[in-house]
Amino acid sequence: AQGRLGMDMGGTNIRWVFLDGRGAIADHGVQQLPRHAEARQRVPGEIVRRYRGRICAAGLAIAGTVDDGRITWSANLGLADIDYDDELRRAGAPRARVLNDAQAAGLAEARIGAGRGHRLVLVLTIGTGIGGAVVLEGGLLEGNRPAGEVGHMVVDPSGPECNCGRRGCWERIAGGRALAELAAERGKTIVEFEQAARWDGSPEAVLLGERADAFAAGVDSLCAILAPEALVLGGGVMARRGVIAQKYTEALSGLRWGAGTRVLHSQLGDAAGAHGAALAAGDRAREHPSQT
Ligand code: BGC
Ligand code: ZN
Repeated sequence: AQGRLGMDMGGTNIRWVFLDGRGAIADHGVQQLPRHAEARQRVPGEIVRRYRGRICAAGLAIAGTVDDGRITWSANLGLADIDYDDELRRAGAPRARVLNDAQAAGLAEARIGAGRGHRLVLVLTIGTGIGGAVVLEGGLLEGNRPAGEVGHMVVDPSGPECNCGRRGCWERIAGGRALAELAAERGKTIVEFEQAARWDGSPEAVLLGERADAFAAGVDSLCAILAPEALVLGGGVMARRGVIAQKYTEALSGLRWGAGTRVLHSQLGDAAGAHGAALAAGDRAREHPSQT
C-alpha cells in the first residue's frame, strides 16, 4: 500500500484527501461532524477504515495541542487526551501522525502552496484563534514542542482572558472570536459589523482599524524574531475576503521588521490542513519505513 490519507478536523467539519503513491489526489471529501463528542472523536478512525489496505500512512490535523500523537488540549473541539496515533493505526493506517491544524496548513502552504520556493516561511491562520507554523527548508520548526503558537503571544497582560489560561493573548485581540465579540458588543453579527466597517470613519471602521494595527504589530514582532522570507496568510477570516481581510492585509504595508518579508495569501485555502496532514504522514512513512 502506497496511499497517504490526510484529514483535517475542525469545529464543524472534517475534510480529507487521499493521495496515491505518486502524490496525486485520488479521492477527497468533507463531512459534517456529529455534535456529540464521543461520536465525533470516532470519525477519523472511520475514515481511515474506508481506505484500509490502500494506505501506508494517515495524518490528522486538529485545532488543539498535540503532544506525541496525543491530543492534550482542544478548547474548540472539546476533545482531550485522545491517543489518535494508536486509534488511527488500529483503524488500518500502518503509520500515523497527529498534528496541530495550523502546523499542517503551514507545512502544506510552505511546501506546495503559496510559500513554495522560500527557505523560511511563517504561516498564519486567522480563524477563531490565530494559529501559526514556522517552516524551515520544508520542515516544521520544532523544539521541545512544535514552534508557532503565535496566537498566545501576550500583547496586553491585563487584556481579556484567553482559554489558554492567560490574559491578553494576541488572538484575543486580533483573532476571529475577538472580532465577533467586538461586533456583539455593538449589537451586530460579524457580517453586519463588516458591512458597517466598509464606511470609512464609521465607529466600526475605527474599531477594526485598531484591531488591524494590533494584528500588524504582532506580525512585525514575529518578523523581528524570525526574519521570514515569506509570510503566508490563511484561515477562515482571510478566506472570506471581506473588510477584515482587507484591513489586516493593508496594515501589513507599514511593517518595520517585516519590510523585507513577502506577504502572500494562502493558495490551498481550506484544503491546506488536509494536504499538510498527508504530507506529514508521508514524512513519517519515510522516517519509519520498517513499520510496514
Ligand atoms: C490554538 C492553535 C490553533 C489555532 C487555530 C489557537 O487558539 O492555540 O493551536 O492552531 O487556534 O485553530
Ligand atoms: Zn492564550
